[in-house]
Amino acid sequence: MRWALLLTLLLAGGAVYAEPVIEEWTVVEKDSEGNDVEVTYMTIDGVMVHETDPAKQPQPPIVTPGTESTQEQAGAAPSDAIVLFDGSDVGAWTDTEGGEPRWIVEDGAMLPLKDAGYVKSRQEFGSCQLHVEWATPTRVEGDGQGRGNSGVFLMGEYEVQILDSYENTTYPDGQAGALYGRAKPLVNASRKPGEWQSFDIIFHRPIFNDAGEVVRKATFTVLHNGVLIHDHVALSGGTWWNGPHAVQPYKPHGDKGPILLQDHGNPVRFRNIWVRELED
Ligand code: MG
Repeated sequence: MRWALLLTLLLAGGAVYAEPVIEEWTVVEKDSEGNDVEVTYMTIDGVMVHETDPAKQPQPPIVTPGTESTQEQAGAAPSDAIVLFDGSDVGAWTDTEGGEPRWIVEDGAMLPLKDAGYVKSRQEFGSCQLHVEWATPTRVEGDGQGRGNSGVFLMGEYEVQILDSYENTTYPDGQAGALYGRAKPLVNASRKPGEWQSFDIIFHRPIFNDAGEVVRKATFTVLHNGVLIHDHVALSGGTWWNGPHAVQPYKPHGDKGPILLQDHGNPVRFRNIWVRELED
């Protein structure tokens, strides 16, 4: 049913999200003292408001929350998350060719060796919630895009920029938290170099039609160190470099892709990486 609806909307080229169907009616009932009272009933997508029958309104699944990280100690993932790195090993990752990554684990963090290249997650994801923590080098070297540059890519395509943006000015659509070349963060919530920082990313994948045209753009909601920096932003296209003043357009791809961590020549460290898959 849902897929039929989705297909219809895709063929129509319109929005994917359907408005909820709300119905409302009033009946006369007896109260506990036998008096007539009017009671209004309302359903949203066929489910009564304040329904208690679990056959009609199932209880949400129970998830044990994770623990918060501190600067000294990485937190833990919630119980239903897929853990991509918990400080022990890089087994969830390969190099971009699918081989063993030249990234190492040091003090509970993963980081690239020199010229290691990107790593990608073995498991692929579409729409998801991604938590990742990162720290740029304590010893500050370079400036602009050359200082603590890395990045986390959704579906192997869409980069949320990692950069040491603490007292380090660069083009706003390339600073820490930018959707690279597409959208600057609402604010600069950067911590000092060497300190652990976090991204919490709510990502909905783009949807393409058979002609390879995007019929629903990807969306990003991102918190940087707990501060909202993208509020359900529709990504206008791809984020790959296309010369100094352009980025590449969308190009069609499948429903899932890997999480990619960038090696941009700076030893940026990562810890506590986990994903929760979302419905589109
Ligand atoms: Mg980058």
